[in-house]
Amino acid sequence: MTHNRPMAQPYDRLFNFSAGPSTLPVSALEQARDELLNFRGSGTSVMEMSHRSAPFEAILGEAETDLRSLLSIPSSYKVLFLQGGASLQFSIVPIAFLGEGSEADYVVTGAWGKKAVESAKLEGKVNVVFDGKADNYRDIKPFEELSLNPNASYVHFTSNETIQGVEYPADPVSAAPLVCDMSSDILSRPVKIENYGIVYAGAQKNMGPAGLTVVIIRDDLLAKIPQNLHPMLDYRLQAENGSMYNTPPCWSIYVSGLVYKHLHATGGVEGAFARNQEKAGVVYSAIDASNGFYKGHAACRARSLMNVTFTLANDDLTNAFVKQAEAEGLDGLKGHRSVGGIRASLYNAFPLEGAKALADFMSAFAAKNG
Ligand SMILES: *Cc1c(COP(=O)(O)O)cnc(C)c1O
Repeated sequence: MTHNRPMAQPYDRLFNFSAGPSTLPVSALEQARDELLNFRGSGTSVMEMSHRSAPFEAILGEAETDLRSLLSIPSSYKVLFLQGGASLQFSIVPIAFLGEGSEADYVVTGAWGKKAVESAKLEGKVNVVFDGKADNYRDIKPFEELSLNPNASYVHFTSNETIQGVEYPADPVSAAPLVCDMSSDILSRPVKIENYGIVYAGAQKNMGPAGLTVVIIRDDLLAKIPQNLHPMLDYRLQAENGSMYNTPPCWSIYVSGLVYKHLHATGGVEGAFARNQEKAGVVYSAIDASNGFYKGHAACRARSLMNVTFTLANDDLTNAFVKQAEAEGLDGLKGHRSVGGIRASLYNAFPLEGAKALADFMSAFAAKNG
């Protein structure tokens, strides 16, 4: 397939707006390619080596060290490299912390938070303290305005709702331990890990290939996990075994480690944050300059830096937009069916030129069809 690219990309790659799995830094992919058949003289690929081998132990150790320094994770937290996706954590968290007689608060600002509630309800008492469904999940509710139960076992929220494009602009604070699904905005901006009890994130949005789920958990919470859980649901057991109770997702950890190095070399999380603000700003400006041709889905204060969502007047226009954008090498823009319209995912590795190409395309399309 040939494209009228506004600008040639390395390896003839598209501007990939996919919501996940999603675009990765070219330099990390190049290094993975170069090391694919014989990893640094070990004679095997990372895909083929024992997870108990010295080279893999080093890969895992470095990935943890790099992630700790990127996020300034205090030493009172464990970092786990697990499988099962964010979706399995929807179950593990309540299985571990929502036993008889306890309750948890859930803040629902979109589709993923809703799924987290569905899992938690199977385990125990859930108080949904906010649900943005009535206005189709356009906004957050600041934590200061929520009536939270200070005796709850935890408060769960989703820092960035990937489908709706609704993001909490800053780290909330709560009396009960804060549990955050950070799958789609981890490493996109500075966070204060010390505000949280547990942070978890699937790798495939902002860190690396699918298959890895990172869990960051404070030691006092690990100590509260009941005895005799199924081993694969037991964060404490995983922590005691250095994420190697069973075979970890070796390849995904390796590539995520390369992404962490890339991030370190490009200004860390602060550098990513500055770039992400600029990229999202370019696309939101195109929405705001369109005189209503494009309607942003999220309320301004909740606009996501990672997933920019907007709608057009009708399905015909939306379909024409997606099709013509694709022909220009702007790929993966169709919104989730629950929101409709367009979703432009602009994760860390997505280039600024791609955001500019989209904004140019948006103004040309609006001029032609407005
Ligand atoms: C993608 C996503 C999930 C689901 O992740 P899986 O790894 O597929 O389970 C959960 N929460 C958020 C915020 C997401 O973006």
